[in-house]
Amino acid sequence: MTNRLYYTEPFCRRFDATVTRAFDHEGRPAVTLDRTAFYPSSGGQPFDTGRLGGTDVVETVDGGDDVIHVLVMPLESGAAVTGEIDWTRRFDHMQQHTGQHILSGAFETLFDNLTVGFHMGGDVSTIDLARGPSPAEIERAVDESNRIVWEDRPVAIRFVSKAEAASLSLRKEPAREGTLRLIDISGFDLCACGGTHVDRTGAIGLIAVQSVEKMRGGSRLTFVCGSRALRALRTYRDVVAGSVRALSVLPTELPAAIERLQEESRELRKQLKGLQEKLAEDKGARLAAAAPEVGGVRLVVEALDGWDVAGLKALAAAAVASARACVVLVCPEQRRGVTAGQPVSLVVACSPDVPVDANVVLQQLTHRFGGRGGGKPGLAQGGGLTAPAHEVASAAWTLIETMLAL
Ligand SMILES: [Zn+2]
Repeated sequence: MTNRLYYTEPFCRRFDATVTRAFDHEGRPAVTLDRTAFYPSSGGQPFDTGRLGGTDVVETVDGGDDVIHVLVMPLESGAAVTGEIDWTRRFDHMQQHTGQHILSGAFETLFDNLTVGFHMGGDVSTIDLARGPSPAEIERAVDESNRIVWEDRPVAIRFVSKAEAASLSLRKEPAREGTLRLIDISGFDLCACGGTHVDRTGAIGLIAVQSVEKMRGGSRLTFVCGSRALRALRTYRDVVAGSVRALSVLPTELPAAIERLQEESRELRKQLKGLQEKLAEDKGARLAAAAPEVGGVRLVVEALDGWDVAGLKALAAAAVASARACVVLVCPEQRRGVTAGQPVSLVVACSPDVPVDANVVLQQLTHRFGGRGGGKPGLAQGGGLTAPAHEVASAAWTLIETMLAL
């Protein structure tokens, strides 16, 4: 059974121990020790890493009676070793975990809102609250939490029996039997917990809630403490500085400035759409007016650059609306970086009283040049035809001419 030094000495970062067992843990070398300061993942707090007997501890796992140290290089059973935990990582965990106790304590004390879950991630931590707090409640709980931090209250570790614990008012009902380890934040919060904590609340520095989201029945609060709060502040500073530079406004004016830009962009898109429609209408009518007549039908066959299929459709629709016409518009497909040999798209449109089926024309062209597409007798579109636009156009001309001659 490993003597877990972190239970009584959470600030112990360097220790001597003996390897009690050397083995393989899920394909990686691992050892147990007679005593350890390495904390294994549990209670929402992630594991410690560090050095042990000249190799790296990459993961620490709670193996029930023993703590399993997963290593890079194997160690021998019986070896005397020195362990040193990565203190930056561990101290960060202690700041977040103690901060969590205070934040949870504040929600319970002020609003009788219980914490039902806790998770510490690599960048942020979360607590799950039984009820969704209002924004004002969150601010009050955060203010109260930071008051406790700045009063620099002692954080003590106490061991009591389950019977003794029953007479104390613990924040949450302990699940385990036997001796309980309590974390006592002087005069504020008492909670059964096996995690590591700072010894005075001042070491947490700052507790900040970043966001809240609704969850089944309650809500999830994302928060940062200590060095993570400073890191978050730096990130926000850089993001805000970049945004105010781009928009030439003060930080407090950012939301309004972004809304204004979105409104302008919506208005411009609307105007652009109107202009494109007008342009297609004019150009379509001009194409029909300038086209030669074959058997009393204006035959518009053009290879065009710089139009997309939606534009071609608008153009073709305008042409067949302005005259008794058959229209075939071909354009190279827009592909970034491709200049030659790209497939072509086309639109075929026919006025209702013209004896040509646009879909039939399209099918014959895709049959000959490849690609695919479909439509109705009045309007059909296709793409992926592998021939130069002018070749497709000239084939379309011959085809429709023949159909009109019948
Ligand atoms: Zn805890």
